[in-house]
Amino acid sequence: MSDFQNPVAGFGVTFKAMFKKRLTEQYPEEKKPTAPRFHGRHQLNRHPDGLEKCIGCELCAWACPADAIYVEGADNTDEERYSPGERYGRVYQINYLRCILCGLCVEACPTRALTMTNEYELADRSRESLIYTKEELLAGLEDGMVDSPHAIYPGTDEQDYYRGLVTEAAPGTSRQVAVSKGETLSDQAAGNEESQDRGQGVQA
Ligand code: SF4
Ligand code: SF4
Repeated sequence: MSDFQNPVAGFGVTFKAMFKKRLTEQYPEEKKPTAPRFHGRHQLNRHPDGLEKCIGCELCAWACPADAIYVEGADNTDEERYSPGERYGRVYQINYLRCILCGLCVEACPTRALTMTNEYELADRSRESLIYTKEELLAGLEDGMVDSPHAIYPGTDEQDYYRGLVTEAAPGTSRQVAVSKGETLSDQAAGNEESQDRGQGVQA
């Protein structure tokens, strides 16, 4: 191609592009839905009565190639029960400055406690705000749930939860005092009210 034709060919490319459909997205004003199985922010799931599915086993942390998860398990007691079995996740953190959203942690989780949502807005201005705590990752309360800690459904055991036999909190279930978190009886009453509001679909 001659020296004269080169710029003309260049303008030809520009000219053709002027008539193509524009792909510019007006983010963040317009947010396009993601693909249904998009890997976004994690969620710690609950059983249908509100108890937590996480058993604090740390398998997710060991599976993580980016060392982004930190878990500390602890024992449930009858007075302060977070999950149906023996252990629960007392501390749970995911560092989104490290996470590459690969989903290996979800594959490793034996109880389906950990799944991923479609939420992708994971940017902020401080390191602290991008280390998500258990409280931030824990799923909200749906109808029929009471916030943990609370007693296991009467007459059932841990296996019954995984067999799908527990479908909601037993009538009269109330939230226990989270003594390990320094809570008092008045905090427990406030927690129960909030739990009832959320169960009725009222945003706290
Ligand atoms: S999605 Fe991948 S990188 Fe992120 S916490 Fe899970 S295993 Fe680690
Ligand atoms: S999220 Fe799953 S794998 Fe991770 S500690 Fe909890 S139960 Fe274990």
